[in-house]
Amino acid sequence: MTVVLASRNSAKVAEMRRLFAEFNADINVLSLSDIGFEGEIVEDGESFEENAVIKACAPVSLGYIGIADDSGLCVDALGGAPGIYSARFSGDDHTDAKNRELLKEKLENVPDGERGAHFVCVTAAVFPHKYNLEPIVCRGECRGKIIREERGEGGFGYDSLFLYEEANKTFAEMTAEEKGAVSHRGRAMRKFAEMLSKAAEKVDGYNT
Ligand code: IMP
Repeated sequence: MTVVLASRNSAKVAEMRRLFAEFNADINVLSLSDIGFEGEIVEDGESFEENAVIKACAPVSLGYIGIADDSGLCVDALGGAPGIYSARFSGDDHTDAKNRELLKEKLENVPDGERGAHFVCVTAAVFPHKYNLEPIVCRGECRGKIIREERGEGGFGYDSLFLYEEANKTFAEMTAEEKGAVSHRGRAMRKFAEMLSKAAEKVDGYNT
């Protein structure tokens, strides 16, 4: 089954391909650029689920099966913020480094025992009407705590501030495999790959 990931980011496409291969899912992943999609996708949902489905609908408008993910960090002491706004936490000229600085600043006076947080990743697949398949939506979460000073060189986003307590390592101190085994994205993707493989049997049956 061929699906289109609602992203132009080649690293994301490569990551999805790697994850599906890891879970032995026979799924061919194309990007928006591969299908010549030039429209703008307005992510104006109010939850990770809504945004993932909004994005996954984009390729469907051109007749493809669309998949997408939406993720972010929810911090207890900030009432769940930055949540769906994680990428743009520090404003219009946001960068990962600026986002981390702002998070450190906002939590400066929060005591050690109240620094809990969780990452969320929601993956979604939306199918053209002819397949008569309901959308697939999978959520993965990972709990940890936000430390005061960054640790580790790997990863991206908030990884170096997110301590996964069971391993006493931040996500930035883990290998990609270690992180994938426990992360929100790994958890969502494992369920997603399984459900998408089942859908693929129906879709491939429809096509033959
Ligand atoms: P996206 O929806 O996957 O593009 O993620 C939105 C934002 O959430 C990213 O820009 C990061 O700031 C943050 N984020 C999501 N997943 C992770 C992660 O695994 N590590 C660190 N930051 C993450």
